[in-house]
Amino acid sequence: MVFKSKNFCIVLSSPSGAGKTSISKQLIKKDKHIALSVSCTTRPKRSGETNKRDYIFLTDHQFDNGIKKNEFLEFAKVFGYRYGTLKHTLNNFFNKKKDVLFDIDWQGFQQLKQSNLEVVGIFILPPSKKELINRLKTRARDTKEEMKKRMDLVQNEISHFPEYDYVVINEDLKKCVNQILNIIESERLKKSRLINLTKFINKFRI
Ligand code: 5GP
Repeated sequence: MVFKSKNFCIVLSSPSGAGKTSISKQLIKKDKHIALSVSCTTRPKRSGETNKRDYIFLTDHQFDNGIKKNEFLEFAKVFGYRYGTLKHTLNNFFNKKKDVLFDIDWQGFQQLKQSNLEVVGIFILPPSKKELINRLKTRARDTKEEMKKRMDLVQNEISHFPEYDYVVINEDLKKCVNQILNIIESERLKKSRLINLTKFINKFRI
């Protein structure tokens, strides 16, 4: 490409069970210009999760300290635990000229939109309510109580879809990932993001 695109933030949000984690993993595998932001959380580590790879697991005290020191780009309470993105994470990836992918909820998305960052919001939906309930049940990563809490919150999360720029249905993982890659590629071509565009266009002057 003749000109490069200004880096931006890509936010993926969805109700639990829409497949965001698998989608995110595929996206960073397929597009080397995307980096995944690893969030901080106060929720307990699930089996199979690794500190700093899946989340940066913090105590409440450590999380409070991060807030006090103004280290968070955004943070929110989700399912009774706190989750947040460190400013340092974003700066680090932008310095490496990567677009940054965030798997965060609607509250975090709203905070990012209110900042002066360039943010593209993509809302992922499961293909049907029945499928969503099935996925939540078969995940079995959480306690029954937590499952119920998540199902109750699904309605609230879905109600925020109009705030996003795109809505993608995850019926087929491969198709869904390709659709998101196409969105990202198109966003990179937005003329407001193209660096040196004017300089390039001026070359065509006779
Ligand atoms: P889980 O505990 O299942 O990994 O994530 C629960 C919810 O928290 C998901 O909807 C996820 O997108 C959201 N989440 C994860 N990290 C962050 C974050 O840094 N900020 C915000 N606002 N939400 C997050």
